[in-house]
Amino acid sequence: MSSAIRVVVTGAGGFIGHHLTQYLVDRGYWVRGVDLKYPEYEESAAHEFELLDLRRFDNALIATRGAHQVYALAADMGGIGFIEQNKGVIMRNNTLINLHTLEAARINNISRLLYTSSACIYPGYLQREENVKPLKESDAYPADAEDGYGWEKLYTERMCRHYTEDFGLETRVVRFHNIFGPLGTYDGGREKSPAAICRKIALAENGGVIEVWGDGRQTRSYCYIDDCIEGIYRLMQSDYGSPINLGQDRMISINELVDIVADIATQEIRVSHNLNAPQGVRGRNSDNTLLRTILGWEPGISLENGLARTYQWIYSQLEAAGNAQPSDAMQTVASGLR
Ligand code: NAD
Repeated sequence: MSSAIRVVVTGAGGFIGHHLTQYLVDRGYWVRGVDLKYPEYEESAAHEFELLDLRRFDNALIATRGAHQVYALAADMGGIGFIEQNKGVIMRNNTLINLHTLEAARINNISRLLYTSSACIYPGYLQREENVKPLKESDAYPADAEDGYGWEKLYTERMCRHYTEDFGLETRVVRFHNIFGPLGTYDGGREKSPAAICRKIALAENGGVIEVWGDGRQTRSYCYIDDCIEGIYRLMQSDYGSPINLGQDRMISINELVDIVADIATQEIRVSHNLNAPQGVRGRNSDNTLLRTILGWEPGISLENGLARTYQWIYSQLEAAGNAQPSDAMQTVASGLR
């Protein structure tokens, strides 16, 4: 909580890293943001922002120099369509980024590093039903992670553990479950389901049809960005060094997600299911028992509230580009949120 603490946020040009940077600056930290690109939708709050490709080790050394703590968020990632079609690229890029970041942190005497893992590390064999049992941290093994992206996450979790054991670098490892909110990617192919559904509904006419991947009965839980940032920060302050879930434990189907967004938009929406599109595991939910025990806290912002804020932001982006369907209801949504 002091400007004397120097923090590096990698992936600060991305969705979660950008929000985290603002949060840390607001709390008096000195922050260096590092990314391949600047944030897309607004300026970074970082005191220093360096464009660096962390696939190169010399850049990782530059990125972490003179800092006390590192929040390691940089990754080549996207929604299920992107991660299913780019497994080799993702594994190569993310392995290089994370190996270099950890090794540079060790050399630069970083006191603590937080690594952002994913629910994608959980075994496929536990996620074959819609009404799936919530996943607890110990379910990770025997391993059968999401091919490509998930295996790299699991490998880096393991590397964090061994950097702590062998070199004394303190690490924190968080497993996110579908984080969403304003300022997240909503088009271009890397967007995830909440943003994609908000965009499709904002672009649809009242009574129109949107495409949903799969039969829509696949289930997930979703966590709003402000809760995610709060959880990341609390974990970094804690003395807990093993992987921990960070998400909501309210599980809903994609069809239900569409209904909630359609209600927010006050639109009648019909769904066309694309059964050939990638849809990931059949069901996934977070078991928050450990989160509650370790942090004495869990995400509390309702899905409806978070989606209303997200929809409003995506709608305003599309409207500014001259694309959204006019809706009187958006005025109501907007004023209700202020
Ligand atoms: P994001 O794609 O918005 O941000 C990642 C950032 O990393 C991007 O800005 C990208 O440019 C940057 N990056 C990629 N390659 C880089 C490189 N070689 N050097 C430097 N920077 C590079 O993603 P996000 O949603 O903000 O996710 C942040 C972290 O959380 C990632 O590690 C991601 O895997 C993890 N995660 C996110 C979710 C989610 O629901 N958003 C779920 C599970 C895990």
